[in-house]
Amino acid sequence: MSSRVEMEETCRILVESVSGWAEANLVPSVTARDAAGKFDRALYMRLGSELGLFGVTLPESLGGCGLDVSATIAVIEALSKSDPGMAMSYLSHELLFAHQLYWTWAGYGDALPLRHADVLKRHVLGGMAMTEPNAGTDVLGMCTKAEATEDGYRIDGVKQWITNGPVGDAFLVYARTGEDRRAISLFLVTSDCPGFARASCDEKMGMRTSSTGVLMFQNCRVPRDALVGRLHEGLRPMLRNLAVERLGLAAQSCGIAWACFEVMRDYSVHRKAFGRSIAEFGQIQKMLSESYAQCRAMRALLQEGVREILDGSRDATVTADAVKLFCASSGERVSRDAIQVLGANGYSSAYPVERLHRDSILLSIGGGTNEALQKNLSRLVTRSS
Ligand SMILES: Cc1cc2nc3c(=O)[nH]c(=O)nc-3n(C[C@H](O)[C@H](O)[C@H](O)COP(=O)(O)OP(=O)(O)OC[C@H]3O[C@@H](n4cnc5c(N)ncnc54)[C@H](O)[C@@H]3O)c2cc1C
Repeated sequence: MSSRVEMEETCRILVESVSGWAEANLVPSVTARDAAGKFDRALYMRLGSELGLFGVTLPESLGGCGLDVSATIAVIEALSKSDPGMAMSYLSHELLFAHQLYWTWAGYGDALPLRHADVLKRHVLGGMAMTEPNAGTDVLGMCTKAEATEDGYRIDGVKQWITNGPVGDAFLVYARTGEDRRAISLFLVTSDCPGFARASCDEKMGMRTSSTGVLMFQNCRVPRDALVGRLHEGLRPMLRNLAVERLGLAAQSCGIAWACFEVMRDYSVHRKAFGRSIAEFGQIQKMLSESYAQCRAMRALLQEGVREILDGSRDATVTADAVKLFCASSGERVSRDAIQVLGANGYSSAYPVERLHRDSILLSIGGGTNEALQKNLSRLVTRSS
């Protein structure tokens, strides 16, 4: 068997076990956790202790599974069918923190500093902090700065909307290290560093089972080996990881859409109106059939994006942008149609589709807004003409 075929088989088995576990362990409490806006850390940790899902793309020497990102993407889609908020916490840890930390060093061909290896081995809960109150899409407009001191760096600034922010143990933090707009560096900051504080911004519309927060750095002292990669070269890991992050977020939309499609399909068969199943009405059939086609198209495009990343294709970034743009819009549309098919039941928390629709909207904002992706893509596709 080729390694590609073996990996596909591994992903299939992984999806089966993650889906079954999520159905049994996440679904029973997800409505209550969503209503409370509560991230359940103990439940999250069971993804590691019971399913071995932490460090999927890390080598076994770091306590990882030694698989490629196709496995992480498959896990994220499977978790998102049941609980997209929990899936987002997982994505932030796995792709934005652990994968990014390891592959930044690997990208330079360097061994991990001992402290970084230790953080990864312990599978602490991580996150990534790029966005600031006044710098989101305009990421190079960030104000957080890091200055060299005798024994390390001093970080000052504020990061906002950081997934796992209020609950995480360690973060990859982008900070300005020079006058040039592009002079940005990446730092590993653990939550016990002096001068580090945080607050929650959990009153959000969707993804309420994940925790989101503000990270504050006030004269925050980190050791010299907090630097990840090279000084002033933080844009390199940022760009390297962006395509992977966007595929992960697209996988979230895909999981949401499939979950909504399945609910609307089953409901439309059993719900009767005018003596018939509503699945017999043409307008309902339109929503069902188009949702099904959207789900199939999302998954096909996502798989193409994953293949291109794994093959190291030059087009991988363009494809990842296209995948995220298409999947975010499609996820919103399918989940909205699911609400329509279920009528008043769809509008209530008796069924998961209203929660899934609220969750789906984040995916048009986080990790690059639809508008930013439209701009990127139109610039890239017109470049050669
Ligand atoms: C629940 C949640 C979790 C998040 N998790 C993280 C995380 O873990 N780490 C992290 O770093 N960030 C995180 N974010 C932040 C997220 O990535 C940003 O919200 C996103 O990049 C958009 O930035 P903004 O919200 O500042 O919007 P802005 O950049 O202010 O944009 C506002 C509007 O203007 C539009 N716009 C901006 N510039 C242009 C332009 N040039 N042309 C056309 N339109 C434009 C945008 O598309 C948008 O519609 C999270 C956000 C949320 C809500």
